[in-house]
Amino acid sequence: MMSSDHFAYANNGNRFLGTEPLHDQPFALIGIPFDGAVTNRPGARFGPQEIRRASLMLCDGTHPYFDVTPLGLLGDAGDMRLPNASPLPEVRAHIETQAAAWLARHHCVFLGGDHSVTLPLLRAIKARFGQVALVHFDAHCDTWTDHFGEPSGHGTWTYEALQEGLVSPQHTVQIGLRSGGLREARDYVADQGGLIFGARQLRGLDGAALRPVVEAILQRVGQMPVYLTLDIDCLDPAFAPGTGTPEPGGMTSTQVLTLLEDLAVLNWVGMDCVEVAPAYDHAELTSNAAANFVWTYLCGQVAKRAP
Ligand code: MN
Ligand code: MN
Repeated sequence: MMSSDHFAYANNGNRFLGTEPLHDQPFALIGIPFDGAVTNRPGARFGPQEIRRASLMLCDGTHPYFDVTPLGLLGDAGDMRLPNASPLPEVRAHIETQAAAWLARHHCVFLGGDHSVTLPLLRAIKARFGQVALVHFDAHCDTWTDHFGEPSGHGTWTYEALQEGLVSPQHTVQIGLRSGGLREARDYVADQGGLIFGARQLRGLDGAALRPVVEAILQRVGQMPVYLTLDIDCLDPAFAPGTGTPEPGGMTSTQVLTLLEDLAVLNWVGMDCVEVAPAYDHAELTSNAAANFVWTYLCGQVAKRAP
């Protein structure tokens, strides 16, 4: 479908895919422009707007694999209004409250922001769906027990989510891990009974060679409600330089796409894409990748709806 009212470049309200503002569409997109909990380079607060801008290149939004478009079913709610200079617990309380209101009415996609936003999102997800399974793409384990002397940050949320019982440990899957860190942090999810596919394990695997990974995740998650959190630094910096803590030796765009496409059948209840920091990007590589991943997730869900 290609209609003039959805011609993205001409309809630039900087909404994702140039879609309509959110009203009662089943799918909602919400920006979380917060980067107050980073360890290294700030800037992810500008991620949501750049991902939206990059998404306009996707034109009428019809996906080449799923053969559907989210247009007509997706509304863009704009960005959360947050007290950016307040202490982290206060910012997170705002995120949780606002997320809960949208989760009550829509299947939500959140654009970060740094990865600290996922903890309040999971609190709202737990309140709505109960304990969920978690699929977590990242270069980092995000299971550190403190944030360089502070109790919480963008590298502690997975640990906190497991401690709080927001996600089921046996149904937590991490993909792409490769950063330095003590074994206790790196292997924390596996020690709790979850699954980790480190970047080294994934080297050279793509297409059909990724099938055993897909099967293992499908089997592990089963029919549980499952939440997707996609830290863009799971990608190699060659594919995603625009992020705060880039780690060489990462995943390719096609590896992530294969997994997103082949895992679309899971019982997804929402997702976020975080850590896009446009100031360090080149040629919009990172925002393009993020827009493409979010679009692929949405189309996978749209394709499951009855025609
Ligand atoms: Mn992360
Ligand atoms: Mn990361």
